Amino acid sequence: MSTYLSELNDVQRQAVEALEGPVMVIAGAGSGKTRVLTYRIAHLMNNGVDSFNILALTFTNKAAREMKERIAKVVGHSEAKNLWMGTFHSIFARILRVEAPLLGYPSNFTIYDQQDALSVMRKVITDLQLDKDIYKPKQMLNRISQFKNNLITVRAYFNNPELIEADEAAMKPKTGEVYRAYVERCYKSGAMDFDDLLLRTNEVLTRFPEVLAKYQDRFRYIMVDEYQDTNHSQYLIVKALASRFENLCVVGDDAQSIYAFRGANIRNILGFQKDYPDAKSFALEQNYRSTQNIVNAANDIIAKNKDQLKKDVWTSNDEGKTIPVYRALTDIDEARFIASRIFEIKMRDQLNNNDFAVLYRTNAQSRAIEEALRKKNIPYRIFGGISFYQRKEVKDLISYLRLLINTNDEEALLRVINYPKRGIGLTTIQKLTVFADEQKMTLYEVLENLSLYGPRTGLNGGTLNKLHNFITMLQSFQVKLKTHDVFEVALEVAKQTGLLKELRDDDTPEGISRLENIQELLNSLQGFVEEQQQLDEGNPSLANFLEDVALATDMDNEDEDADKVALMTVHLAKGLEFPIVFIPGLEENLFPSMMNLNTRLELEEERRLFYVALTRAEKQAILSYSVSRQRWGKIIDAEPSRFLEEMDDKYLDWENPTPMLPVNNSGLSGDLFGDKPVPRFKKKSQPIKKKLTNTTQTLRPLKQAQVNPGDADHQTIEEGYTVVHDRFGK
Ligand code: ATP
Ligand code: MG
Repeated sequence: MSTYLSELNDVQRQAVEALEGPVMVIAGAGSGKTRVLTYRIAHLMNNGVDSFNILALTFTNKAAREMKERIAKVVGHSEAKNLWMGTFHSIFARILRVEAPLLGYPSNFTIYDQQDALSVMRKVITDLQLDKDIYKPKQMLNRISQFKNNLITVRAYFNNPELIEADEAAMKPKTGEVYRAYVERCYKSGAMDFDDLLLRTNEVLTRFPEVLAKYQDRFRYIMVDEYQDTNHSQYLIVKALASRFENLCVVGDDAQSIYAFRGANIRNILGFQKDYPDAKSFALEQNYRSTQNIVNAANDIIAKNKDQLKKDVWTSNDEGKTIPVYRALTDIDEARFIASRIFEIKMRDQLNNNDFAVLYRTNAQSRAIEEALRKKNIPYRIFGGISFYQRKEVKDLISYLRLLINTNDEEALLRVINYPKRGIGLTTIQKLTVFADEQKMTLYEVLENLSLYGPRTGLNGGTLNKLHNFITMLQSFQVKLKTHDVFEVALEVAKQTGLLKELRDDDTPEGISRLENIQELLNSLQGFVEEQQQLDEGNPSLANFLEDVALATDMDNEDEDADKVALMTVHLAKGLEFPIVFIPGLEENLFPSMMNLNTRLELEEERRLFYVALTRAEKQAILSYSVSRQRWGKIIDAEPSRFLEEMDDKYLDWENPTPMLPVNNSGLSGDLFGDKPVPRFKKKSQPIKKKLTNTTQTLRPLKQAQVNPGDADHQTIEEGYTVVHDRFGK
């Protein structure tokens, strides 16, 4: 038997060896589902399957890379090279690079990230002269995202009285117009947003049977990790691709379905057996990740959900320590506790920073924790903040690059037309846009033919001259791109446009950091060029680089090996594991979130989310709640989360801080704990009152939440209030 098979238990091995036909693995957290997928791919290749014929869809690109490395160890690097592994979005972007022209898109289409999409949406709402307070751009994007993920095109929308009525009832009768205008604007710009990547893949596979046949023939073996969180659009793509050979293996855990808010449909996994009556099904029950205490407490939690497939998860790992539950007086106190405890455990157990993770329910919680970590000089890394590629200066340079390969990319054009400043003002841009719209041309087409159209735009000679210079400069970059590699061109762009000079002239700390970011971007371009040349993948294309950039998830940035504590939302932590995991903010209305307390189904999703959080821990989970917390600029009273009560006390270790210390607005006075061990008070069964709503705040929940692939951050949106946080930390 090959050695890698001996690293599996019996059921895992059976699942790995069932190479042909549909296979489903539904199993609890930490039971080796991802391991099964990884080994299965290696096993396929060892059995003569060409890597070219294998497709694996993962939750993050990072997960795909890690799996690929492991596979390479078994079958060799050159063998693993051709494997198609990645997120749905990155894989289907790759397919669309080839097939999108069939749908009228350029093959160099731009991928609009959430920022670009929002900017387009704002313009659409202004153009249609709608009230931004009613047609809130983010909400409208979410609504459109729902349509797209359910394959409801603009035409389908207008043919669906139910949808129209629903939007009328929500006092947004122009939703259809907004949808149409948004889609048209993106299309005209030769751009797709994240949802389009799935929608258009579906479209191309449905409308062009020969294209479908090509990919069916290519992807003879398909694997999907985290299948419980696929949405309808993803489900249909997988189904179509697999329908010829039916060599489809999906793994997942219904108890970890946490993306219903962005359209994930748990029925996809529950209905697998119906879709494929011959499917072989495997249940893995042994957890290899966590201690008995953690596994048992997690079992207690999930048992409270009515909607779940029964599973008996157990582990032969150590019993482990009981799970501390810390009661903080304020969120600041809680943050200090976390920092002190990390310090303490690190010293005691000789651990590294990256053995620790803090998993919170909402991004807003990170601020206090960051501050406490900084005070203790504990390096940390936030996942899901402003990603590198979304920083202003980085995006400015990238916008120039985007424009070079897709001149119709209006978002990019508008971003750089007057940056760095070259005297092309807002009025000029407005005049040009109006003229372009009248002529049914893109902005760039007008600019390209200024000698012809210029006089008709109403702009004076001086302005036309500036525009002419701008466009000539862009064209010179395009020429250079034909003979030079993308790094050289990008450097030229940074110099010629004045971007580098502008940043160099700014010697404030922010300015210096911006310049460093640009240098970092140039480095990554250089790295990309070298990597591609090594792989001998021909001329490295700018389009490929930009695609990687657009689809980089929050998990993909920064130095992975850095020794830092990981801070992220629970949503982002799916599939990951850490020796020590902190879960702060276990309070009613926070975790479970107040947004999800209206129905049993919503509450069950919160419970699954807590289950995911708890099961990330290998050696120890450390829970905390605070009796008061700053939220929306106010200090509110908080009650312990019901989830704390749902675990048997025998797995928990209730701790309290020294009571009766003076409290001021910023939390506790003085450094309460220093680096000394935290005083422990064993407490049996903390009385926990159950109450659904918070008396100090009455906010109406909004149904559709923020959607964004790679952005696993569940949003808290309050009607009439603002979005508390979003992917870009605004
Ligand atoms: P999740 O539901 O959180 O995604 P999972 O079911 O995908 O979890 P894995 O991440 O594949 O679980 O495995 C959990 C941990 O247990 C990993 O560290 C993995 O290497 C280890 N593991 C899995 N199976 C075995 C085994 N048979 N022997 C030893 N270790 C194993
Ligand atoms: Mg997994």
